[in-house]
Amino acid sequence: MANYEFGIDLGGTTCKIGLFQGEEMIDKWEIPTDTSDGGKNILRDIADSVKAKIEEKAIAKDDIKGLGIGVPGPVTDDGTVHNCVNLGWGTVNISEKLGELSGYPVKVGNDANVAALGESWMGGGKDYNSVVVVTLGTGIGGGIIINDRIIAGAHGAGGEIGHMLVNPEEELACNCGLHGCIEQYASATGIVRTANRYLDATDTESVLRKEANISAKTVFDAAREGDALALTIVDDVCEKLAKTLARLATVVDPEVFLIGGGVSKAGQILLDHVAEPYKKYAFHACRDTKIGLATLGNDAGMYGAARMVLD
Ligand SMILES: [Zn+2]
Repeated sequence: MANYEFGIDLGGTTCKIGLFQGEEMIDKWEIPTDTSDGGKNILRDIADSVKAKIEEKAIAKDDIKGLGIGVPGPVTDDGTVHNCVNLGWGTVNISEKLGELSGYPVKVGNDANVAALGESWMGGGKDYNSVVVVTLGTGIGGGIIINDRIIAGAHGAGGEIGHMLVNPEEELACNCGLHGCIEQYASATGIVRTANRYLDATDTESVLRKEANISAKTVFDAAREGDALALTIVDDVCEKLAKTLARLATVVDPEVFLIGGGVSKAGQILLDHVAEPYKKYAFHACRDTKIGLATLGNDAGMYGAARMVLD
């Protein structure tokens, strides 16, 4: 039986590659993502890098089980990605193309879903089978893992948690074109926007008024120090996030919600402010669902990609 697999996390500027021996990551490195010429070199560069590593480590060719890859776009079951705008790709069957170039079987998933699978496998969800990951970064990504399987849906849009509706009254449009998505409030940029709205709407004293550059971090730091306006902002953002989790719980009922991404560095104050309103909004059967932090950071995508190969 083959002992090794590769887990690949393809991003718009770099591609992270991990070599795994079963559950253990034994090496990781990055190559630049070459988006010139409609991204036509990307898969060849990946295949070359994988082959070079196999030679470097003197691994027998038949000791490689396969390659898993997370790509930044919607992926359908046959391994086809549709419209990876930031890579310059239209419709590409990654499974076939990378399979031909590398000579190994290839499993493909959407990057956010794959990262969620990684968290569920070896990160904050290690002890659970059913996990929902919500990644609070510049936008909001996520993934739904039920019984160790990604729920990608009919159009590859399963797990697009950032675009769940929380405020139909919102006038500003979200990046997706809808109005009032949770991403508009609880992402790093959403928290800054919410903070500025509060600062503009009131005269309340706040340390945030002296901040030249308000960020999600400065808002949570001020709240931790007891700043009343910062606490109001944190409460508002976390209440919207809690409603989103409560709605998700009635649909997929996970054992645990994991919050990741840059905003999750706020840590316990974020968890506490989400957990309290969550109990208020959740259906009684899932009122005690755990809410924790993602732990793998930027490695989650490589772990999840490797995990797909082990199926
Ligand atoms: Zn949206």
